[in-house]
Amino acid sequence: MPNQDQAPRVRTRFPPSPTGALHLGGARTALFNWLFARHHGGEFVFRLEDTDRERSKAEYVDSIMGAMDWLGLDWDQGPFYQSQRFDRYREAIQQMLDRGRAYWCHCPPERLDQVRQEALAKGGKPMYDGHCRDLGLGPAPGAVVRFRGPSGGETAWKDLIKGPISFANSELDDLVVLRSDGSPTYHLAVVVDDVDMGITHVIRGDDHVSNTPRQILLYQALDSPVPQFGHVPMILGPDKTKLSKRHGATAVVDYRELGYLPEAMLNCLARLGWSHGDQEIFSRQELVELFNLEAVGRGAAVFDLDKLNHLNAHWIQQADPGRLADLLPPFLAARGVASYDRDTLVKAIPEIRPRTKTLVELADWAEPYLVETPALDPKAGAKFLVPANRPVLERVRGLVAELGVEAPQAMEEAFRQLAEDLGVKLGGVAQPVRVALTGRTASPGIFEVLAILGRERSLARLDRALSAING
Ligand code: GLU
Repeated sequence: MPNQDQAPRVRTRFPPSPTGALHLGGARTALFNWLFARHHGGEFVFRLEDTDRERSKAEYVDSIMGAMDWLGLDWDQGPFYQSQRFDRYREAIQQMLDRGRAYWCHCPPERLDQVRQEALAKGGKPMYDGHCRDLGLGPAPGAVVRFRGPSGGETAWKDLIKGPISFANSELDDLVVLRSDGSPTYHLAVVVDDVDMGITHVIRGDDHVSNTPRQILLYQALDSPVPQFGHVPMILGPDKTKLSKRHGATAVVDYRELGYLPEAMLNCLARLGWSHGDQEIFSRQELVELFNLEAVGRGAAVFDLDKLNHLNAHWIQQADPGRLADLLPPFLAARGVASYDRDTLVKAIPEIRPRTKTLVELADWAEPYLVETPALDPKAGAKFLVPANRPVLERVRGLVAELGVEAPQAMEEAFRQLAEDLGVKLGGVAQPVRVALTGRTASPGIFEVLAILGRERSLARLDRALSAING
């Protein structure tokens, strides 16, 4: 038997509506709930709020799950689908009717409209006037069920992020829980689900603050313990306006395609509102260890692509080269590089990645080592593959033929000697060789380039450059 005195095990949830892709805001909400559950050794529940049949689509369910999977936000229970739980919602509504916590309302739409207009004209809120509250009505065509709210007092909670919040109950009208078509409303479904799924902490965007008092009243009407709430401030763009398409990609999966690593995305999302001193870099494990709601700020968070780039560069630098090689094929294919030697790629990655911020850039930097004949940057060719550089390239060809590429120290010695003989700086030797080997003027150190390409390919490229100069 569990000890009754023990606090219930932490259980959080992420309940997106599958009416679009998972956006940064939703992903951050999912992450905070996941981290809170993992930090407390609790459970994370995944639920799809798909009661809007018109707008909910199976493809969005797939894409949301794909994004969660990419971020590694695994759930312990679910996915639950609200669309499969209508019987349960109706049962809960019946329970409320039986206990006098809800009532049938027969007011026709025209009357409701008139009540609203009158309230607005008096400068009040457009609220239902409770006309059917005490009429003792039963079901009828076109009738709805309304929750019977308290007429006085206030509904308050201590928000885990925003502190104490309260609403006067007179501000909250008797909300519909069952529509005339027999479908439950959003508030009812959310509360019944959170009760049934044993949710202890509701962490969600602060656009839901005004829903919370209504939902608290519903928990009470169902004689169920009220969970704790934490409302996370919204996310703004760098210009301090609400984050939107104007600020760039908004869907999480877009960032995957733009070449971001999930650990960078996770790191970035965690820092949208949460902080730990001035630390910026967090591994998944560290986040699980350190995450708490006390350190979620009350002010809006700002999403900054430069920061994400910085984090991505860091995590690319940390990643296992073999794993990066496994992630690169789509980015290489987008450049027309379909078949190549994987070992060469794995060998190149540690050398090229210090200069890259995304997998798109990594693919760009990798290309010259993977293709048979790298594209020649015309400017670089015109400047460096010229007759004046023929002696340099000929002598380097000789060195590579003689020394191979496995002895960088000997090769470096030889390059220095060669520069001295020719009366140029080391760059005067390295740069034409770099262009001959990669087609570009920027690359890792020339000895690393030789090592990545290997003896035979290096010789072939030097030969090709020489015959271009000669021809
Ligand atoms: N389905 C709601 C949404 O996507 C979530 C509501 C909640 O967290 O309670 O905004």
